[in-house]
Amino acid sequence: MTAEVVVVGSFVQDHCWSTDRFPVVGETRVGHFSSGPGGKGFNQAVACHRQGISTLFVGALGADAIADTARRFAADEGLECHWQVIAGQPTATSSIIVDAAGRNLIVVDLAANLALSPGVIDAAILPGVRVVLVQLETSLEATEAALQRSREVGAIAVLNPAPMHPQMSPELLSLADIATPNETEFALLLERLSVPAAAAQPWAMDDLDLHALCRTTGVPTLVLTLGEYGCFISHGRNRRGDDEAFYRVPCEQVKAVDTTGAGDAFSGGLVAALASADAGSCFRDAVIYANRVAALSTETIGTAPAMPTREQVNKRFAAV
Ligand code: ADP
Repeated sequence: MTAEVVVVGSFVQDHCWSTDRFPVVGETRVGHFSSGPGGKGFNQAVACHRQGISTLFVGALGADAIADTARRFAADEGLECHWQVIAGQPTATSSIIVDAAGRNLIVVDLAANLALSPGVIDAAILPGVRVVLVQLETSLEATEAALQRSREVGAIAVLNPAPMHPQMSPELLSLADIATPNETEFALLLERLSVPAAAAQPWAMDDLDLHALCRTTGVPTLVLTLGEYGCFISHGRNRRGDDEAFYRVPCEQVKAVDTTGAGDAFSGGLVAALASADAGSCFRDAVIYANRVAALSTETIGTAPAMPTREQVNKRFAAV
């Protein structure tokens, strides 16, 4: 069966330490350690798959023991994966520190992800795929090939421009139907496009001004995630069934303990909702659903394993 959603992206084995507060330079703090699968692409694929949507993940691994844990986790999840094994490169790893307020500091070695080949894309994204989701943690060539292929098969192309890549071109951006930057990525995106910096933080800006700023990107629909301030949606000509061209959706009230991967939960939840939307659905419904997936993901430490299932989302929140 052709997958409804294809996520092309990174796999990273996360090594996470939770501690009361971040160490200052030169300081050692005591913390609790856990390790689990992550990487923006893989997190997003797991988030989407857990919403009951048939999902294919396309990513790269080294030929090492960490790669085996990735395969095992995906198999236990029932997530279909197409892995490209990169000789001579390790599987990617990250070091994450989470403080008592749930904030994080991250260092990542993207390793094998940067060698993901565009050659694997065409066979993975087949006619019938409804949504393709990419980020910027793999090779730009593979990302661009996935967006191009998405066009060819008539799928909705979603770009999570994270982390912002110094070589990301306006041409690559122009291949996306929807982009989901967070506040920092949005600022860097504007910088890449040489748009003069806005005076205020996006969450504090006037809606009309923020919409105008979003429109300078040329992305047909921009979903700006704003952490605990929820998100801001800005449509161009195609409002995707919404009445308004721009609006905010506040975040759900939850007991956040670790916001690492919240943006991934959001993008994964959004593409799942878009893939299952019927002709009468509006985009706002998909955003509200994504907001719920993201909010619930913050209640558990970790990234991929912290993604909630559709049952957990529906149990916690009333129907959209
Ligand atoms: P990223 O993880 O990429 O930095 P954000 O911090 O913008 O992304 O968070 C993405 C989404 O996760 C937000 O738009 C919101 O829906 C949800 N979220 C983040 N932090 C919280 C929180 N403290 N409580 C509830 N929802 C949150």
